[in-house]
Amino acid sequence: MSASKTVVVAGGAGFLGSHLCRRLLADGHGVVCVDNLSTGGPENVDDLTACDRFRFVHADVVESVDIHGEVAAVCHLASPASPLAYLARPVETLLAGSAGTLHTLELAREKGARYLLASTSEVYGDPRIHPQPEHYWGHVNPIGPRSVYDEAKRFAEALTTAYRRTHGVDTVIARIFNTYGPGIRADDGRIVPTFVRQAVDGAPITVHGDGSQTRSLCYVDDTVEGLVRLLRSAHHGPVNIGNPRELSVRRIAETIREVTGSRSPIASLPRMADDPEIRCPDISLAAEILDWKPSTSLEQGLRVTVDHVLRAKHPHDGSGVTRTGGDRIRPSERRRNAPAGC
Ligand code: NAD
Repeated sequence: MSASKTVVVAGGAGFLGSHLCRRLLADGHGVVCVDNLSTGGPENVDDLTACDRFRFVHADVVESVDIHGEVAAVCHLASPASPLAYLARPVETLLAGSAGTLHTLELAREKGARYLLASTSEVYGDPRIHPQPEHYWGHVNPIGPRSVYDEAKRFAEALTTAYRRTHGVDTVIARIFNTYGPGIRADDGRIVPTFVRQAVDGAPITVHGDGSQTRSLCYVDDTVEGLVRLLRSAHHGPVNIGNPRELSVRRIAETIREVTGSRSPIASLPRMADDPEIRCPDISLAAEILDWKPSTSLEQGLRVTVDHVLRAKHPHDGSGVTRTGGDRIRPSERRRNAPAGC
């Protein structure tokens, strides 16, 4: 895919999507960001509007996606993604995975574009194989509360594969594991923003159960690098994109406490239904076909994330520009913050 070509990023005003838009612009692409702003926000892409190669389209992929002009690739990231978000929007989440996937696949088919589906490690459910390789079919409760997300993504994978087999659309499925970094919403209930917010507020850091369940956390730049390599490859996936360093939730809480210098106690809440016991990607396929592995340590990634949270909390301290917390970037500052080359 040549650098000058246009990429459509559905869900581009969200956490991961906005980082992907920024990276694609920096690489010279035109980017059309399609988003209904349900869990994302315009502040995530404010700085990108200064770039002539960036266009924002306010639309719901569940309704339709209509883009004029040539498109080289379509990336479908449009879906509620955090447990709080998808539990609050169960039907919308199922529709984003079904109708949203259908409409974005139709767009790719119409344009002859490569298609990337942002799937998830949640397709493995509460896994019985560890670490999880791509050939594992998973262990998902189809009627549990989390099923609205897990099964939506499993359906999306099936539909994506059917479009490749039946209509010859050039598709690839990325199974993304927990990703964190600057721009992730402080209140969206995911482990890193929740623990960081609690630590910087001096509030108890709330682990579910005894915190012995494990998670693997990937810094957003590493995830985006994996997605871009996948987009430019000829592979159809699924391919795991995640960090294989596995830590207990309690250890993650302790690390965040160390990085923030907080004295917050660690408190226990009841476990959530179907909360996975273990979670760790087998990334040997990504290493082999993409020559990719994460390069940011948890401590490095957390320091950048914490710094961002602190600047959002105290936007007038220092010279940093805030993208989260509802503070919009002033127009005069946009070009300064736009990606290189814009
Ligand atoms: P996010 O909530 O920050 O971003 C999702 C974006 O999609 C938001 O901007 C939201 O407004 C938009 N959106 C939702 N429904 C839409 C619709 N019907 N039409 C148009 N736009 C819609 O979440 P995120 O963490 O950035 O996740 C992005 C994608 O990556 C999701 O598909 C998610 O399932 C996948 N993923 C993320 C992670 C992670 O750890 N961040 C892990 C696995 C998979």
